Amino acid sequence: MKKVAYSKDEKYIYNSCDINKVTKVVKKLDKDKLLKVQKLIMLNKKEKQIVFETSAVYPQHFYPLSILDYANAIKNMLINDKEELPILSVSSKDYPYCDFKCKDCLADPTRKWAIDNLKEPQIELEKYKKILKQISLFSKKRGIDSVRFEICGEGNPDLYKYRSEIIEYAKKECNMGVVYISTGSKMDSKLKETLVKYASYIRISLPGISNEAYEFYSEQPARKKFTFDDSMNLLKELTELRKKYKRENELLIGVRTCMRKYNNGHYISLAKKLGEMNVDSFQIVKVLTENQEIIIKNSLDETTKNDILELKKSYKKYGLKHLQVPNLLDKLYIDRTLSKTKKPSKCYSSMLSPILYSSNLIVCIHWDKIRNIKEFHYGKLKGDDNEIEKLIYGDRGEEIRKKIPSSCDNCCALNDNLLLEAIRTQLSLYNNLDDIEFLVETEEE
Ligand code: SF4
Ligand code: SF4
Repeated sequence: MKKVAYSKDEKYIYNSCDINKVTKVVKKLDKDKLLKVQKLIMLNKKEKQIVFETSAVYPQHFYPLSILDYANAIKNMLINDKEELPILSVSSKDYPYCDFKCKDCLADPTRKWAIDNLKEPQIELEKYKKILKQISLFSKKRGIDSVRFEICGEGNPDLYKYRSEIIEYAKKECNMGVVYISTGSKMDSKLKETLVKYASYIRISLPGISNEAYEFYSEQPARKKFTFDDSMNLLKELTELRKKYKRENELLIGVRTCMRKYNNGHYISLAKKLGEMNVDSFQIVKVLTENQEIIIKNSLDETTKNDILELKKSYKKYGLKHLQVPNLLDKLYIDRTLSKTKKPSKCYSSMLSPILYSSNLIVCIHWDKIRNIKEFHYGKLKGDDNEIEKLIYGDRGEEIRKKIPSSCDNCCALNDNLLLEAIRTQLSLYNNLDDIEFLVETEEE
């Protein structure tokens, strides 16, 4: 059977023993193709042979980039013979206040710490712009045109005073792929318009997936509460605006919820509702916790398991383009413990996808790393020329990375690090990396 795969700018048609290249068919992988990525393939062009492939590719996790960008970054690092990588994705935690008080909120301890310990829990607008400009220049020098810029919770990002300005700036002046993650409870019309015009991905978080579950899990202190129905109306408005601005091929709109007791029995009806509204992606994840006892005790009930299996089979029939559910349908809570055998030799994500917490650049999002300025913060960014090079690849950055991942007991980027390690191992088998091309195989067209 013929299959189709794409490199950065070429299309390949192949079966297991024959690879043909059709050049200049596609300039950039669009939303539909990125969501259909099923495999990363490593091709030996000289021999016309596939030498490695993996299906651990997580399309929406990397969107609007793809695993192809990450694989090529590792390849370029080896070609340049220098342990340096561009920043491909920066996750910004710029607003440590929230109108919700969700159960199991992971940001709760870190944002309290940030308010008490960082002199500047929010970044002032002009400084924020300079920092984004420097991040995009840093990566441009290392071959990357568009950095993924994820704006996400440590609070409700809708409430940051200059939200629309910073999104517009990131897209127009830095060519960043803006990913926006929020409950949307405080999105005003200006923010909705800005997001639909300039973002690449809007992901609405749902603490619960019925009015009752939403109220129960969000624990909103305000008398007038944002409801599950309000979030459905918001999604409808966003998909309609997307149509108005003709951005259906670029802007991904999705939702994410956790598997929880009071969500039981509502997954299928929500999937149908989302499909009818032209929402693209539905993610169902396990709750993350530090508490090992909770992980061990809480197994997944049969109804949820069956609903998830049904969704895996039928999500397209319901009108969704993409579904992400846990691979292992065993526990309600996620276990990210790092065993000795599972540990990668290097923390790639500390270079490829660091965290911007206010103006502090940090190795990763892990709660212990955020609260340990001395050992895990690269430093405070001011927006000065070349400061990122000095912080990440200067003596301090090198010292920080010597301790990781050996000193990490659990890892928030375990899958990414293991995958990138596997890619590096495969590449190191070849003397001439110009013979190697990475492709992503998509679903049949
Ligand atoms: S909306 Fe997000 S940041 Fe706010 S309390 Fe809930 S989980 Fe925490
Ligand atoms: S927990 Fe450790 S290995 Fe994992 S991303 Fe953070 S620094 Fe890297």
